[in-house]
Amino acid sequence: MESILVLTHADETGSALTKASLEAITAGLDLAARLSAPLTIGIIAADATNLTKGLPCAVLAVSGEAFAQPRYATDAAACEALCRASAATIVLAPGSSRFARVAATVAHRLNGLIDTHITNLNVGAIGGTGTLEATRWFYRQRVEAVLTRDARPWFLLLDAGTHAPFAATDAAQPAITEVAVELPALRTTVTGIRAPKQDEQTIRPDAKMLFVTGAGWTKKQPDGQTHVPEASDLILGFLRLTGASLGSSKSLVDQGGEGQPVLPFLTHLNQVGQTGATPRHAKGLSTCCHGEEPHVVGWRFIADRRAISLDPNCGWTRGKADVVYVADAFPVIAKINELLSATKA
Ligand SMILES: Cc1cc2nc3c(=O)[nH]c(=O)nc-3n(C[C@H](O)[C@H](O)[C@H](O)COP(=O)(O)OP(=O)(O)OC[C@H]3O[C@@H](n4cnc5c(N)ncnc54)[C@H](O)[C@@H]3O)c2cc1C
Repeated sequence: MESILVLTHADETGSALTKASLEAITAGLDLAARLSAPLTIGIIAADATNLTKGLPCAVLAVSGEAFAQPRYATDAAACEALCRASAATIVLAPGSSRFARVAATVAHRLNGLIDTHITNLNVGAIGGTGTLEATRWFYRQRVEAVLTRDARPWFLLLDAGTHAPFAATDAAQPAITEVAVELPALRTTVTGIRAPKQDEQTIRPDAKMLFVTGAGWTKKQPDGQTHVPEASDLILGFLRLTGASLGSSKSLVDQGGEGQPVLPFLTHLNQVGQTGATPRHAKGLSTCCHGEEPHVVGWRFIADRRAISLDPNCGWTRGKADVVYVADAFPVIAKINELLSATKA
């Protein structure tokens, strides 16, 4: 019979589990019910005492200041200890940078196997009745595969945004069983985190909306001129007012290398598509972008797709977007920003 462990960790404040950890708990609860298997939640935090509200299962924790911050040696040791203490056959964990860094090591130490970028868990019949099936995408989200494995323990790193975050329905706090870890030799001292200010950070995986900019923003407009500074103000204004995440076409982020006018806040990290990212958001609005296949393939997980383009024959109008506004994005976004500002005021 299977037994399931969900590995989780606290966020930077230490006072809550990360959203991705809460998503993994949802996946664990659902899977445990479907497999009729016992479930354990493993927590790594400075202090796990207030992180267990409403968890309807056994909780193991590795606690202490050494585990407050991400560090390879301590995270690997903590995960290993939790896995050994639970003796789980299936280990679920969020694909956070913290766990993605150590999960393969831990799987190896436990003589198990690991699969990453898991988007769905099912109980089916591919590997025999009632076996666990894990889904992931290959070849830039073009081929979806369903995996089964006989090897145990089987580690599965879950992609963020694929499950609803666990929300406690009661205030009961299950007892925590502390798992002791002998600290390994520590060569790394975490002195702090250096990160861009929130409003400089344009990639926001948790945002409801993706706002994509295409090369059209920097092209000559009907008056024969380019309007890059105005485009920059409109885009940043829209992001500020909506909290949307900023994506880009490849052509636009490539322009910097070609010496053409560019939007300074865009980097290749913003690029969406075949050779870029495949973000997950409930809605997407594409602007000044042609909607070519290598770009649109990155929109696979955007539920409601809209586009604003001057070209009535662009790729978006050929069945790739739910709604296309054939219009000049400059006045459209200016008007939207004006309306949003008025609403906020
Ligand atoms: C192997 C390979 C991999 C690739 N990978 C990617 C990838 O990962 N991501 C990606 O994006 N591309 C990728 N591409 C490139 C892709 O094929 C397209 O060339 C690119 O996406 C086009 O970008 P664009 O729509 O911004 O620019 P353009 O094709 O120049 O289109 C600009 C659009 O803006 C419109 N426009 C101009 N002014 C306005 C205005 N005022 N209002 C409204 N609309 C306006 C124009 O009508 C035009 O439709 C790849 C290509 C190859 C060959």
